[in-house]
Amino acid sequence: MEKFDILVAGASTTGAWFAKKMAEAGHSVLVIEKQQAENVSREYDIFHMGKAEMERFGLDIPKEGDDDYGFVFTSGRSYSPYGNYSKYGKETVVGMHKHEFIMKMNRQAEAAGAKIIYGAAFNDFLKDEKGKIIGAKYITDEGEQQVEAKLIADCTGIPSAARRKLPDNAYVENFALSPADIFYVVLYYAKYTDQKINPLDLHGFFMQYKSWSAPSGDDHGAILGIGANYDYAYAEEIFKDVRKNVPWPKYTVEKVEKGMTPYHRTLYSFVEDGFIAMGDTAFLTKPTCGEGCTSSLYQAEIAVEVISKLLKEGKPLTKENMWSINKRYIQVQGKDFDSLRPLLIGIIGYDYKEAEYMFKNDIIFCQKILGGMGQDLNLTGGDIAKMVAGILKGVATGNIRMSNVKKTVKGLMQSGEVGKLYDEYPDSPAGYFAWKAKADALWEKIGKVADTCDPEILRKIGK
Ligand SMILES: Cc1cc2nc3c(=O)[nH]c(=O)nc-3n(C[C@H](O)[C@H](O)[C@H](O)COP(=O)(O)OP(=O)(O)OC[C@H]3O[C@@H](n4cnc5c(N)ncnc54)[C@H](O)[C@@H]3O)c2cc1C
Repeated sequence: MEKFDILVAGASTTGAWFAKKMAEAGHSVLVIEKQQAENVSREYDIFHMGKAEMERFGLDIPKEGDDDYGFVFTSGRSYSPYGNYSKYGKETVVGMHKHEFIMKMNRQAEAAGAKIIYGAAFNDFLKDEKGKIIGAKYITDEGEQQVEAKLIADCTGIPSAARRKLPDNAYVENFALSPADIFYVVLYYAKYTDQKINPLDLHGFFMQYKSWSAPSGDDHGAILGIGANYDYAYAEEIFKDVRKNVPWPKYTVEKVEKGMTPYHRTLYSFVEDGFIAMGDTAFLTKPTCGEGCTSSLYQAEIAVEVISKLLKEGKPLTKENMWSINKRYIQVQGKDFDSLRPLLIGIIGYDYKEAEYMFKNDIIFCQKILGGMGQDLNLTGGDIAKMVAGILKGVATGNIRMSNVKKTVKGLMQSGEVGKLYDEYPDSPAGYFAWKAKADALWEKIGKVADTCDPEILRKIGK
């Protein structure tokens, strides 16, 4: 039987990046990908990443003329619900064709020494007589194959093909995402009727509808996107509000794409003996928008460092030895992401008119917060005092409902509670289950962004 240091299941952004880095560090790596090469990552075409993050993770930025190149631009906008006010972002964004970009990443992983088998689906763990994970069983056209590996890295995205096979008492949770924990994304590829319109000028995000406009890479082409919990039908219903409320140039829809991304707090532990969950499998997507291609790499980067060192020292890849991946990820990104969730629940409750007023008066939906998304916010005491004064004035003039202010305050306090609990994350697996019990109780109290869905629409779509 073939033996590898690392078996990666899933060859999309996370799997390809991790495989390349581990191979570059001198370890033997096998990647198994369920799809045949020509079908990898065909779910949707155009996606984007921040240029600064691409540089940080050494991702190859395509140039005009390359088959994966889509577009590059700086400064998208966050729009108010009726489109009257907007705040400018500062990030430079690179748009790419996903299949072409991923196949390039996979070729780079192969050039670094990783072996990739396409049309090979992870089926189950291979275990020794004591139940210890020692490899994987996977299915190809020729039937079931077996391979030995010191570590199985589950990078299979939402299906979480390996994570779901872990026992109930594992340190990595094995549950499946429910429709409430998934962001259902619909992309309308649009062509503007007026040939003078440059889609780059209209790039922006409509926070209240979780909707956005991005260039498609074609002349006069745009992607009008929307995401929602529970179902694509919910997203399509909300998109009707966008079209009704926001003045937008005329366009025709040329094609529609749909896809799913996780919208759930991060797994409490990524590691188990001989196993690690990564990328969408570990719910590492950004809480604001559900994007996960670069946010996943913060954990993958730590994993490469820790696992490579253990392999070089000849130490086993046990949960105890890999535990620092959990702890360090929380400090680098996990605490920030998960403490933002309750705050988002507290903000989403504002109705369109209230949010329009708040955009106009720079309250919460202000340049400093929306313009600095993804970067250090650095809110000063003065900024917060100004915001509180604005909220009080809004309540006094009847433009903001007190009940919604209370929800925001609750969100802020719960955000602090998450931060405090995550600071107490155990240093070793020993304290894990006691910590998990506290975390479960807190998340039960906080609820989910999906709880803010409109019950009328849910009834209408039969949910
Ligand atoms: C419509 C849409 C637009 C998006 N746009 C962006 C964007 O612009 N920027 C951004 O950062 N994020 C975006 N996202 C989110 C992004 O797609 C994911 O966060 C990202 O793809 C996660 O990468 P991954 O490698 O962890 O998992 P995935 O991309 O889900 O890849 C999993 C891989 O595993 C394979 N696989 C599945 N089961 C098995 C198995 N049993 N055995 C072997 N292989 C298996 C799959 O075929 C796939 O290749 C978008 C999501 C959607 C739905």
